[in-house]
Amino acid sequence: MDWPASYTRGMRRPFVGGNWKMNTGAESAPALAAATVTEVGDAARACDVVVFPPACFLIPVRSALGDAAVGLGAQDVSSEANGAHTGDISAEMLKEIGATWAIIGHSERRRDHGEGDHVVAQKLEMALESGLRAVLCVGETLEERKAGQAHQVTARQLRAACASIRAEQMHDVVIAYEPVWAIGTGVSATPQDAAEAHRMIRRELGILYSPELAQAVRIVYGGSLNAANAAAILADPGIDGGLIGGASLKAGDFAQVVRTAAARGQPQGRH
Ligand code: PEP
Repeated sequence: MDWPASYTRGMRRPFVGGNWKMNTGAESAPALAAATVTEVGDAARACDVVVFPPACFLIPVRSALGDAAVGLGAQDVSSEANGAHTGDISAEMLKEIGATWAIIGHSERRRDHGEGDHVVAQKLEMALESGLRAVLCVGETLEERKAGQAHQVTARQLRAACASIRAEQMHDVVIAYEPVWAIGTGVSATPQDAAEAHRMIRRELGILYSPELAQAVRIVYGGSLNAANAAAILADPGIDGGLIGGASLKAGDFAQVVRTAAARGQPQGRH
């Protein structure tokens, strides 16, 4: 398969996403977007940077981002194209208002909305078929980790989500390894554990697709990543950036993570 120049072996462009979750307001969302653009500055030239505000603020955030090199994404997307699905937002609707990314399979949606592997797979398929790019979240709970099932659970989620995804579509997927016990807790995975999980996911991608594809797909870490621990966690060459919750609400902290990721000196690409 042909991959763009920015995806040749060992040259994965870093990715850093800011998942604002159910935070910010009508004034603070565009203000945070503007501050993020300012703080990130030139670092966005060497790193894909995407913010994921609450759905109701996507349009004002898009305006605040202007033509800056910071992308816009939704925190979720419907598995359906249109019709009687109260409260859902389709991939086409997101595209229409300027979003180009969607987070899919975040553990908070799996937990709060009972989204299982099947729904996650349907959402990923719908997003990609519609032309959105996706951050696919996988990762184990504390109980699963204590039971020694961390890799098994993460691999199962990955296999299920990718079951209907063609190799060429994986170009539009960033995988976020997010151990659930590290999300919003202030306790991140150790750099060693994060690196090992990323290696396992890359091995799985190699089995599911090909070794070449496994080397080309970006895998990022999420779970209490912040300005203070980013350098240690992102030091591993197999970790291509991060998905950040809490620290993305502070533009300066978020930008520090972006700079850390960008410093890996990767080529330019799309945002
Ligand atoms: C997340 O929700 O994707 C996340 C990583 O959150 P936090 O950084 O707050 O742990």
